[in-house]
Amino acid sequence: MTTTRTRRLRTVTVVAVAGGSLALLPFSGAFAGPGHGSGYGNGHGNAHGQPRSVIFVNGDGMGATHREAGRLDQEGFDGQLAMDRLPIAGLQTTDARDPEDTVTDSAASASAWATGVKTYNGAISVDVDGNPLPTLGQQAEEAGLAGGIVTTAQVTDASPAAFFANSTDRAAQDDIARQYLEVSRPEVILGGGEDWWLPAGDEGTYPPRAGDEEDPEVSRSTQGDLVAQAEGLGYEYVSTAEEFAAADSDLLLGLFANEEMFQQRPEGQGDEFDPVVSLADMTTRALEVLSQDEDGFFLLVEEEAVDEMSHNNNGTRMLESMRSLDDAVEVARAYVAEHPDTLLIVTGDHECGGLTIEDVDADDESGPGGTLDPSIAGETESGEDGPFVVAGTGGAYDFALDWTTTSHTGVPTVVTAEGPGSEDLTGYYPNTHLYDVVSSVLFD
Ligand SMILES: [Zn+2]
Repeated sequence: MTTTRTRRLRTVTVVAVAGGSLALLPFSGAFAGPGHGSGYGNGHGNAHGQPRSVIFVNGDGMGATHREAGRLDQEGFDGQLAMDRLPIAGLQTTDARDPEDTVTDSAASASAWATGVKTYNGAISVDVDGNPLPTLGQQAEEAGLAGGIVTTAQVTDASPAAFFANSTDRAAQDDIARQYLEVSRPEVILGGGEDWWLPAGDEGTYPPRAGDEEDPEVSRSTQGDLVAQAEGLGYEYVSTAEEFAAADSDLLLGLFANEEMFQQRPEGQGDEFDPVVSLADMTTRALEVLSQDEDGFFLLVEEEAVDEMSHNNNGTRMLESMRSLDDAVEVARAYVAEHPDTLLIVTGDHECGGLTIEDVDADDESGPGGTLDPSIAGETESGEDGPFVVAGTGGAYDFALDWTTTSHTGVPTVVTAEGPGSEDLTGYYPNTHLYDVVSSVLFD
């Protein structure tokens, strides 16, 4: 972070109750930037005098087809997913501003949401020149709201990082973790990625997976023991389902895997989707903690496996991750029903896999061919998955999933929403528009 920017100090008192003792933790943080750093640093949320909150749900890699496949799989012809029952819908475009690529990665797309500024792939809320930008998570904390991260990815992976940190390189996950503790201080941090919080030699709760040479999963923090640092700052640290169930702190750090809370692989090659703690349960706990802040909160909820299973063209596991995601959306919807001052957004940062839904037949028409030179197009590596049964039809109807790529694509993604400000999410707009809507709900 540069020191030439306008900076403003603040002091927030965090009251943490743990084990019957009361601790007062004075916290000085600083962040301000041109056009974003003034007008709402009063510690009382927004100018309405009416605290508002935002639950921002990212199905990473989730395009319209993933949602529709999830609907057929879970609800059948006449049903709707919880995310699709939200009353407001729109479409967002997701292109990055990258020197080489048209199609976005998760870092550039989340940076667009978190800052309102398009940037290059790999950027964590820095502009195309590498300058840090104020983020929604930082601004929420600065305005006295609570902040939270819930994800099945590493808690320091690109999407959560863009809301609560700044980095020219999404790979610097231990530095991103350090920024969570020293700068943005989200009250709730739940997900995977233990390896980025612990130094080499400290295996933590989850030792390296035996025999996995491709992905050895070893602790790699170059910032020291960040778990110990978090505990020193008053965070309760939990790393198992039992500890999670017993947690009772207002500052909560939970790391439930070395890296992701699942194993991304093609079918039958070690693929696994069985998180230690479900996304829905993490969302429930996060809302219990964050809702205690009378100034409101910003919570990011993310199901990462939609993207990573799509990278692996693994239709079965992708559908499992869609069930996980929609269960978490049900939790969020139940909360919003009781707390109508909360904006709920459910969307995907980009599409992944070039997925489509087809009838089951013997011909895979997406084989070799087309107009791209074979030296560019290479070997066709995508294929069809299924058949998958349409729920409620007793097996009379089924469908196949067909992939066109193992990468992200540039199609627009669906946004559904309810609550204050959601009416501004109808239409067809760039992903930066979500920043405008969320910031105006929280801060105007
Ligand atoms: Zn991806």
